[in-house]
Amino acid sequence: MSTQFRAASVSGVHKTFGRVQALSDINWGTASGEWWGIVGPNGSGKSTLIRLLSGVDKPDAGIVHIQGRDAAAYRRKELSRIVAVLQQEGVPPVGYTVRDVVEMGRYPHLDWAGKDADADIVERVLDQLGLAPLAERKLDELSGGQRQRVALAKVMAQDPQILLLDEPTTYLDLHYQLQFMEMLAEWRAKAGITIIAVLHDLNLAAQFCDSLLVLKNGRIEGAGTAAEMLTEDNIRRWFGVDSHVMPHPDSAVPQLMLKRRE
Ligand code: ADP
Ligand code: MG
Repeated sequence: MSTQFRAASVSGVHKTFGRVQALSDINWGTASGEWWGIVGPNGSGKSTLIRLLSGVDKPDAGIVHIQGRDAAAYRRKELSRIVAVLQQEGVPPVGYTVRDVVEMGRYPHLDWAGKDADADIVERVLDQLGLAPLAERKLDELSGGQRQRVALAKVMAQDPQILLLDEPTTYLDLHYQLQFMEMLAEWRAKAGITIIAVLHDLNLAAQFCDSLLVLKNGRIEGAGTAAEMLTEDNIRRWFGVDSHVMPHPDSAVPQLMLKRRE
């Protein structure tokens, strides 16, 4: 491995489910503090890669390194102090309060007596995300956008160094999508965390991520900046659609408009 410090990396990784080759020979890594977007068509292996990076699944071959150490060598709680995961629907709408859920994020940091070295962090996170007024509300009384904000608060309270997200904005309206991405950006700017996010919205990905990893059929199709990855030719090859790609008026990152059939 290179001497450059890697927050997370995979080398020679394969993963099959029955006869489906979900990932084939994946070699990739991220330096600390980067924001990677993982993009690609349905079934391309994006969620599988997130599950391997989070340590919940093991590769059939190859190795996953988290901060230079085999992910399989960590104890569960120890890995949870480094890596946090936020799923599409971050928290189930069950009878917990907002504060309960955010407190669950602290579990990896509690000592044998259940004592938390950072006793204020839950309140700080609730404040920071504007959730303090909702703290005693039950999750099933919240909107989808608010629930996803609670899920973010939970992983923030977990205080990880690496955040993994799998399509975190899929069920959110435009307002909450943008708000969610802005909150991630702010968190990264403040805490210097590494973010690896499966995103299906290529325009949002281009605006927020430093780099994109493109998967298709379980293989890496490309890795690089949005400007390098999101070309009309690539979009056609990867997704089978014709598009116009144009620079965003504010930032010049590529933005995509779909073409209809003539
Ligand atoms: P993506 O997230 O890019 O849509 P996935 O990583 O979920 O893709 O899936 C990649 C491939 O592996 C798909 O063909 C999917 O059906 C298959 N797959 C993923 N997880 C499982 C599983 N637990 N059992 C069987 N097949 C799976
Ligand atoms: Mg998926």
